[in-house]
Amino acid sequence: MLDPCNRILDPEPGRSPGIVPGQTASVVVIGGGVAGVWVAYQLAKKSIDTVLITYESADRGGIQGASRRSVGACNTLPLRSDDLDGYLQRIGQGQTHPSVAQVLTDYLPRALTELEELVELKTIKIGVALPSGGEDFLAKMRQHFLATGGEILNAWVTRLVVDRHQCRGVQYESDSGIGKIRCRAIVIASGGYAGLFANSIQTNCSAAFSAPI
Ligand SMILES: Cc1cc2nc3c(=O)[nH]c(=O)nc-3n(C[C@H](O)[C@H](O)[C@H](O)COP(=O)(O)OP(=O)(O)OC[C@H]3O[C@@H](n4cnc5c(N)ncnc54)[C@H](O)[C@@H]3O)c2cc1C
Repeated sequence: MLDPCNRILDPEPGRSPGIVPGQTASVVVIGGGVAGVWVAYQLAKKSIDTVLITYESADRGGIQGASRRSVGACNTLPLRSDDLDGYLQRIGQGQTHPSVAQVLTDYLPRALTELEELVELKTIKIGVALPSGGEDFLAKMRQHFLATGGEILNAWVTRLVVDRHQCRGVQYESDSGIGKIRCRAIVIASGGYAGLFANSIQTNCSAAFSAPI
């Protein structure tokens, strides 16, 4: 049987996939790119019991996510602009959420100061950059997250178990079988473009972008 990503769910006919014992967490973060790893680390630092689920295996293409490919340059010049929202709307072609400028002003300088204590940053003309790129950054941030008490699960989230009133958890597939984590909150940081790259995990976004309207 194939799942929508053409992954074989049951490689041996007649044998059902194993069931991993269920677990609980306060928060599950889906996606271990820059967004997921940073939020997971922030939660763990506050002693919030957090599981980061991200897919590392090779059978969905091997290289996943934009963060691994990123140059890691952060343009901080626009923060000094009198009209940050105007700038963001221009580069975002009017689609930037109006709260983003305020969030960046309030949060980014503090986050960069903290980041400087965790990983090496170099100063560049427009701001700062990671000297050795995204892959090395992710490895270091994952180490910081683990050292702060977080847990990382190499798995593919297949289902969010939520209703209008309550978040109950997630289901996933991993090499060990199908599992579930009961949790009170889910952070979705699964990236926007991963499925567009050759050799990427097959998200459905490329199909969504190319679908006739
Ligand atoms: C070549 C390149 C250079 C770039 N350079 C820069 C730059 O210099 N500066 C800059 O600011 N930006 C840059 N960007 C953009 C930047 O890298 C992205 O905006 C950013 O990395 C997105 O991070 P993310 O955490 O949202 O998503 P991603 O890094 O895509 O991470 C998403 C993660 O979620 C995982 N995932 C998805 N679905 C599931 C699921 N169901 N279950 C489990 N895991 C799942 C994926 O495996 C992936 O690891 C660059 C991008 C590229 C491609």
